[in-house]
Amino acid sequence: MLGVAIAEDLEVASFLKGQPKKLFIGGRWVDSASGKTFDSINPATGEVLARVAEAGAEDVDRAVAAARKSFESGVWRDLPPAERAKALWKVGDLIEERANELAQLETLDNGMPINDALLFFVPLAAATFRYYAGWVTKLDGATQQISAPGQYLSYTLRQPVGVVGQIIPWNFPLMMAAWKIAPALACGNSVVLKPSEETPLSALLLGELLQQAEVPDGVVNIVPGRGEVAGARLASHPDVDKVAFTGSTEVGKLIARASADSNLKRVSLELGGKSPNIVFADADLERAVSGAFFGIFFNQGQVCSAGSRLFIQQKVYDQALEGLVNTIAETRIGPGIDPVTQMGPLVSRTQMDRVLNYIQVGNREGARLVAGGGRPKGVDLEAGNFVEPTVFADVDGSMRIAQEEIFGPVVAAIPFQDEDDLVAKANNSIYGLVAGVWTHDVARAHRVAHALRAGTVYVNCYHVVDPVTPWGGFKQSGWGRELGPYALDLYTELKNVIVDIS
Ligand code: NAD
Repeated sequence: MLGVAIAEDLEVASFLKGQPKKLFIGGRWVDSASGKTFDSINPATGEVLARVAEAGAEDVDRAVAAARKSFESGVWRDLPPAERAKALWKVGDLIEERANELAQLETLDNGMPINDALLFFVPLAAATFRYYAGWVTKLDGATQQISAPGQYLSYTLRQPVGVVGQIIPWNFPLMMAAWKIAPALACGNSVVLKPSEETPLSALLLGELLQQAEVPDGVVNIVPGRGEVAGARLASHPDVDKVAFTGSTEVGKLIARASADSNLKRVSLELGGKSPNIVFADADLERAVSGAFFGIFFNQGQVCSAGSRLFIQQKVYDQALEGLVNTIAETRIGPGIDPVTQMGPLVSRTQMDRVLNYIQVGNREGARLVAGGGRPKGVDLEAGNFVEPTVFADVDGSMRIAQEEIFGPVVAAIPFQDEDDLVAKANNSIYGLVAGVWTHDVARAHRVAHALRAGTVYVNCYHVVDPVTPWGGFKQSGWGRELGPYALDLYTELKNVIVDIS
């Protein structure tokens, strides 16, 4: 039977046994209109984990209609703010209560090490709901001092945008769903979420938790399906007021185009990256090397903000590379569900082949391979989508492996001479999501942070993510900022009211 061999010892068995998993529309769990399903594959074994109803355009239309109905009825947006806050807080509690189950599902569906799911992604999903629960009661407007104060009273209101379509990728399925749904609900919107077809399961379980938290029917609808079908319909739907998209820059451009060609719906985009992680010679080298390792190999390198261009100052170049190669040698690769695993498989065969192809590109371009370069050996690893942590040294900034997002465990190490040389090289990218700077010189840290064209700059740390801080990119890494109070701008319309009080 599907999934059972993997899941029989785990708490997820109860979730997986109700197969095929259904779409969540208007508060009901339903089959797709076409009756079609797709398989969600365990990337560590290649086995089918679950069969999932596949949303087509008709299902997206049903979900949008349900979201519209709930929005217009006021069943959510007109609830007393404290009631909405309570429901969002409750979702955070339920995520925490079901953390083991959610973490196992995330690991089985995506491949990530179970400890990463348990320590980072599931708690961050809960924290995001709680953070936005706090904002519900604080969505204030302002009054303005306009030119004739005795005559006019001018004030602003923040109102929900309406029906929001949300399209998310597969790299952190639950956390991405939380980043999207929590602020949208805090602002009173109704939502249609399309999870990635690679990793639909944790979002579907989240649907159950939203029901338990008594978020009214139709306020959140969840429709797993293929991007070119379900995602495309959502992006071009005439009755969707806004689309929030996280994924590749290539598809982000299609989303912007679909908005322009349909109803000019609002668009926010969190896209790709090719982030520089920069090690100056005066840094604490041990910390910098482990930051370089974590920066690129966390989540198997499938992170939009991965430090995939590693700039090392000439003076410590050989030493830092040697440290990185030694760290890799000690890394345990295996199925994410095994608690000793530090690096799991990539999400799919397609992604694995794409990454292996980039490794060939690096070899052809003449970069020096100093670690990895293929699939790890071992019988247990053959069925899964495993790729060795790979380091190319002496990379030239113009090479494809230094310019294109690989989205896997491959880092391009690039030497630099001094700060001026570095800033120009680091900014030589179409992307601008994050950057890392490792140095003991405080003035330099701030100077370089100021000069880098990136949405977030980490100094002597990397991959620190918190719902409180803004998230988004310069250049082709996206439009807008999620998280923090900034997401409230994405999910509200600002209305100005001017009253003649004379
Ligand atoms: P992707 O662009 O292939 O897919 C993302 C989502 O878009 C999926 O749900 C997919 O089904 C859907 N989609 C695909 N084609 C579509 C279309 N024509 N119309 C509408 N929707 C469509 O990306 P992915 O491979 O799932 O994820 C990896 C990418 O996501 C990387 O580029 C990564 O950098 C990016 N990412 C960015 C952030 C960020 O915050 N900036 C976070 C995570 C991932």
